[in-house]
Amino acid sequence: MAIEQKLSLMIPGPTPVPEKVLQALSKHPIGHRSKEFQDLVESTTKNLQWLHQTQNDVLTITGSGTAAMEAGIINTLSKGDKVICGENGKFGERWVKVAREFGLEVIKIESEWGTPLNPKEFKEVLEEDKQKEIKAVILTHSETSTGVINDLETISSYIRTHDTALSIIDCVTSLGACNVPVDEWQLDIVASGSQKGYMIPPGLSFIAMSQKAWKATEKSNLPKFYLNLKSYKKSLLSNSNPYTPAVNLVFALDEALKMMREEGLNNIFHRHNKHKLAMSNAAKALNLKLFADEKCLSPSITAIKTDEIDAEEFRKKIKNKFDILIAGGQDHLKGKIFRVGHLGYINDRDIITIISAISNILLDMGKISTQEAGEALLLASKFLKAD
Ligand SMILES: *Cc1c(COP(=O)(O)O)cnc(C)c1O
Repeated sequence: MAIEQKLSLMIPGPTPVPEKVLQALSKHPIGHRSKEFQDLVESTTKNLQWLHQTQNDVLTITGSGTAAMEAGIINTLSKGDKVICGENGKFGERWVKVAREFGLEVIKIESEWGTPLNPKEFKEVLEEDKQKEIKAVILTHSETSTGVINDLETISSYIRTHDTALSIIDCVTSLGACNVPVDEWQLDIVASGSQKGYMIPPGLSFIAMSQKAWKATEKSNLPKFYLNLKSYKKSLLSNSNPYTPAVNLVFALDEALKMMREEGLNNIFHRHNKHKLAMSNAAKALNLKLFADEKCLSPSITAIKTDEIDAEEFRKKIKNKFDILIAGGQDHLKGKIFRVGHLGYINDRDIITIISAISNILLDMGKISTQEAGEALLLASKFLKAD
């Protein structure tokens, strides 16, 4: 039995929370209409714009990442609108469901789970739409269910050539892990959530809105109240919120964003990239196969195929012996893959530890030699040294 309170989270959210952020959470709440809270909203909003590399409004909503995505959809679109949904995993699938739930007409662009969406298909469908009936392109940048990162830069360049379609992008596991320059790529709506790259517990979500997205809100007729973004925009003018926000999570957000600014965007991206390389290369050295196409590995999560080993059993062994929680596969991938999250507050030690833990269990099972275990660590160390 493991010692309590030593759980290491290596799932793609919730992610580990730094001590400073935990301390911020444990403070007494303050009034959400106080001057003190307004100052916090002002500073977190500025820092959120920095993180998104944008001058656009970035709104904070109390709710999980799905709330931000749903808000993006229901504030800018109307019943019967035609939208493209990119679907190559569980989250892509979710946005198709949300779009259909609100009566939108969905054109799906699909790709097999584990492979990236093909940007050319977006180009073709958008070019064929001479009547400009497509009102939005909804897609997931980093598909957490499969460990694939989609080529958002290229796809967004095609969306921009179509004058009416808005981009509504799930950046939940890419923002704060790799480059998502919202202004440079002219992304209209970008959604993210606190329990991922932000290093905060679950409960807040964020949505960046371009001018074009705000313009679209004027025509949107889908029902909304709590998630009506106009109310959030209006209150933000006085650094406030329309409803009671999760005050303590905003304390945490303030600390976490300050930590991110101190580290710097490029260092954050570099850290995630080297962890991705260390993790994926070590997995291969351990005779494991990557589930995602190697040309499009997500910076925040590595999905690993287990072939003849039951991935759920494997996950349990890692949890029981080492108190490290890794994620399983979803839907048809359950038992077939496990996923190692390396998003947010993750350092080199965490990566070395999870690789060692995986190696140790494989050794226990007689699946690898000690030499292979050693080589995997050596290889990982090489990538980690690249500082
Ligand atoms: C975690 C996650 C979400 C948000 O899920 P919530 O449970 O609503 O926070 C959305 N998209 C992706 C890609 C995610 O990884």
